[in-house]
Amino acid sequence: MKNDKNFKTITESAREIDVCYEADVVVIGGGPGGIGSALSAARNGAKTVLVERYGHLGGMATGGLVTIIPNLSDIAGNQKIAGIVQEIIDRLDESGATHYPKKEDWGTTDEDLVNYYIDSNLAFFYIRNDINIGKQRVLYTALIDPEIMKCELNNMMEEAGVQVYFHSWGTRPIMHGDSVKGVYIENKSGRQAILAKVVIDCTGDGDLLEPAGAERDRRMIPGLRIAAFAHPYWMGNVDLKKFDEFRSSKPEEFGKLMQDIHSQGGAPHFLKDLVKNHEGIVWFHPFFPCMDQDRIDEINKVELEGRKKIQLTYNFYRDKVPGFENSYIALSAPQLGIQGGQRVVGEYVLGQKDITSDEIFDDTIAIFPDNDNGEISANHPNVCIPYRALVPKRINGLLVACRAYSSEWEHNEYFNLIPHCMAFGQAAGTAAAIAVKEGIEPRNINIRVLQEKLISQGVILPDEIKNEISSKSMAS
Ligand SMILES: Cc1cc2nc3c(=O)[nH]c(=O)nc-3n(C[C@H](O)[C@H](O)[C@H](O)COP(=O)(O)OP(=O)(O)OC[C@H]3O[C@@H](n4cnc5c(N)ncnc54)[C@H](O)[C@@H]3O)c2cc1C
Repeated sequence: MKNDKNFKTITESAREIDVCYEADVVVIGGGPGGIGSALSAARNGAKTVLVERYGHLGGMATGGLVTIIPNLSDIAGNQKIAGIVQEIIDRLDESGATHYPKKEDWGTTDEDLVNYYIDSNLAFFYIRNDINIGKQRVLYTALIDPEIMKCELNNMMEEAGVQVYFHSWGTRPIMHGDSVKGVYIENKSGRQAILAKVVIDCTGDGDLLEPAGAERDRRMIPGLRIAAFAHPYWMGNVDLKKFDEFRSSKPEEFGKLMQDIHSQGGAPHFLKDLVKNHEGIVWFHPFFPCMDQDRIDEINKVELEGRKKIQLTYNFYRDKVPGFENSYIALSAPQLGIQGGQRVVGEYVLGQKDITSDEIFDDTIAIFPDNDNGEISANHPNVCIPYRALVPKRINGLLVACRAYSSEWEHNEYFNLIPHCMAFGQAAGTAAAIAVKEGIEPRNINIRVLQEKLISQGVILPDEIKNEISSKSMAS
């Protein structure tokens, strides 16, 4: 069993493996990090393969029913994360498959608007308290329809010319000394090899790190958001008008019911969906604390317990909570919710110090709004990310562009989210294509070339970097 040293071992016999593809860049994992990586590598001219263990793209954002893309703006309402994530939201917008506060409302303190979003039950994502002015503000956060997103992601891969391998696990990197030269994959066709000049680990869990011999940080603290599984599900056909009337007219009865379900081990909280035609759908996200989310025994335990809790909660709400009489379990997440885990130790390790330093790194590849950290956020509303946080120490031919980015738990807890991983991916995919074109290692690319390309792809970088790039291009 993975990570357990007490099991006896056997030696697997050597065998010939078919090379099924020779690529410039292979991306393992089709979640937010993998989407950004594969699209960017292909769009920048690299022959790109994306390997995903399930039959759809999106990772937690679709299959995990985590359909909230938060913190695209800082608390003042200035958009800071754009690029591919904005492109996806725009495409979903065209088919009415997203919901977000209107652009002119981002950063507003208007009480009617603030109350509208609080009432709509997504205050946690759409609203933050700005302690500098003592008022609540509206953020730019988008909700998405996961099924339309799966379709659009396939369309985008096809348009970019990415070769996608669904239902395929990336198992081990192909190593030559300390250099990664491709990946072994397993699928119904058996075990195959994909050769590549650059491999990008977007598995979320950092599956390629240990077999590549990369240094890792597995520290985790009990009670953290990232130290828990989730087993999300939707209930459909809920009469929310009836539910709201009951909650507001009989607060004590409502409170007692929620206490009851909580004491029985069920879920006392849910969120309402706001995406068009999703009326009557509510989401439950029960959490299961765990320090090792890559252990198969822990994964099995949560799948079993999680489903028991779905049944318990559903029966309770249907039988006792007004508005749920005709509800049904619409969907349980096709992918188990994994919130955090091991991280690569890269050329730069992001930590608590970087949340408060306001440092603009010379190799900044993204700016992340910090809206979730109370007083710290008020004083340091934005955090820069250096390219070096995607580059493992010592190991060549490998980048890491997912929640396993180079970070201590203090940083990972706040910045491993969907738009953040897409931004890591956009930088890593672009960097990989540059490295392939130049015939050099990803760690040695010209950072200004990377930044210039990112800006031209709609990524928002600090004014200082943009000014330096434009003054250099004017001088030459
Ligand atoms: C319950 C819950 C609530 C959350 N709430 C939010 C929220 O509101 N907003 C937000 O932005 N973030 C939220 N997050 C966090 C966010 O979803 C993740 O941090 C983010 O999706 C990480 O992206 P990723 O690409 O690193 O990994 P993932 O989304 O996990 O994607 C990894 C992909 O790689 C594939 N994969 C894994 N291993 C292999 C392999 N060996 N071979 C092939 N494929 C593989 C997986 O199938 C998956 O598609 C939440 C997470 C959970 C679980």
